[in-house]
Amino acid sequence: MQKTLVMKFGGTSVGSSEALSHTRQIIQDAKKNWSGVVVVTSAMSGVTNLLLASAASAARGDITSLADAESTLRDKHFSAAEALIADKNLRERTKADLDQMIFTLVDLCKAIAVLGEATPRALDAVASLGERMNLRLLTAIVNSSGIPAVGVESTGLIVTNAHFQNAHPDFKATEEKTKAALNPLLDQGILPLTTGFIGATPDGVITTLGRGGSDYSAAIIGSVLPADEVWIWTDVDGVMTADPRLVPAAKTLPEIQYSEIAELAFYGAKVLHPKTIRPILNAGVGLRICNFFNPTHPGTRLIANGRSNGKSNKPEDVVKAVTAIRKQRLITIEGRGMLGVPGVAARAFGAVASTGTSVPLITQASSEQSICFAVPSEAAKSVLDALQSSFTHEIEDEDIDRIWSTDDVSIITVVGAGMRHTPGVSGRVFSQLGNHDVNVLAIAQGSSEVSISLVVESVDTENAVRSLHKLIVQ
Ligand code: ADP
Ligand code: ASP
Ligand code: MG
Repeated sequence: MQKTLVMKFGGTSVGSSEALSHTRQIIQDAKKNWSGVVVVTSAMSGVTNLLLASAASAARGDITSLADAESTLRDKHFSAAEALIADKNLRERTKADLDQMIFTLVDLCKAIAVLGEATPRALDAVASLGERMNLRLLTAIVNSSGIPAVGVESTGLIVTNAHFQNAHPDFKATEEKTKAALNPLLDQGILPLTTGFIGATPDGVITTLGRGGSDYSAAIIGSVLPADEVWIWTDVDGVMTADPRLVPAAKTLPEIQYSEIAELAFYGAKVLHPKTIRPILNAGVGLRICNFFNPTHPGTRLIANGRSNGKSNKPEDVVKAVTAIRKQRLITIEGRGMLGVPGVAARAFGAVASTGTSVPLITQASSEQSICFAVPSEAAKSVLDALQSSFTHEIEDEDIDRIWSTDDVSIITVVGAGMRHTPGVSGRVFSQLGNHDVNVLAIAQGSSEVSISLVVESVDTENAVRSLHKLIVQ
């Protein structure tokens, strides 16, 4: 019998009565093979979006749609409770708990409407309700199946800073709290369930770890316990050569190196939250990504960097996957007067950082006459404003000619650890794009040499991903 397994269930895996019943079966099966199982749950699919949309309407002073949101939430959760909680008392108690959460949503949205704004802190309180509701529901469902289970909110496990909507965990404090709360349960053979996505500041104020952050929650909990393995249950057969929604021919990668998944996740492959990898790697915990709809499929396993995948290092073999991030803009700072002036890049990125924006890609023309970088489209205006005010003098003195932004573009990234030792990969990438009439606006190769990223116009995204996917030899 193996020791401790942390399993995270994504929104689709807990998104309906049928899905929850299937999840219950997966939990029952895991209990047979592992002496300790910890379950991390996401909100039901669509719930986090619905909660945040309700808060956004409230901030505009509109609470007319709140009643609809209330009834959608009640229907979704109550129908699963009716179908899967056999014991009447437990069912009624669970429904009352769920109602309590829905009342909290109404209260929060009314307060937001009165204030006319939704602060990041308020948005986290609202967004957390999806996971908190589902924890109550799933715990009751698991208990109904005869497995002794206790729901523990991760606000009591994961301690974070107060960076609402993208909070950073304090691993030491988290380790203490998590061990103190979960080990006694595991020792008694009780199955702990907890919420993904959320944590709390040392004062107990609810925070979230960023959208899609339940994967990260599982990694944090798995790494501090530490567990032997973390399994991420999702709606595809693991990490694939491309997003199957974009490339129907995409295939599952049975194994992927840490460095490769890190690049893929950072550059848009939604299948795994990019922050998941580091705690897993640091703690030496095994990670598997598997399909809730196809539980006997082995899915994808993470393997150490440098382990061979059995393929040769020919340029046609090294590209393993291709991914895209949409809705980016390229910002360019241009001017002959920048030539050789120290500190321009530092000031530029200081200005960008002051807006709280992170930069996924940077290129600099060798002549030093321009610096060009990508930012998410919604941040472009505030970044441009910050740069204009930071370089007011240089613009007046004409050392900087212009600071400008493109329309929406996409960053396409090809990933494969073998690139490092294989000449000719970029040649193949660019010929392929050229042959498919895709114009490349900018290029960057990570210093890790595990990926090449290129920027293309928004309309070329699908064509670029599909044509690059043809380079992947299976
Ligand atoms: P969950 O709710 O289970 O966390 P997500 O929607 O966050 O699920 O992530 C799974 C989705 O990620 C898949 O349905 C797929 O469309 C998308 N995806 C993007 N890139 C990849 C990839 N390279 N491999 C697998 N899935 C991918
Ligand atoms: N429910 C959260 C979201 O939709 C977290 C997650 O599903 O990972 O972003
Ligand atoms: Mg996800």
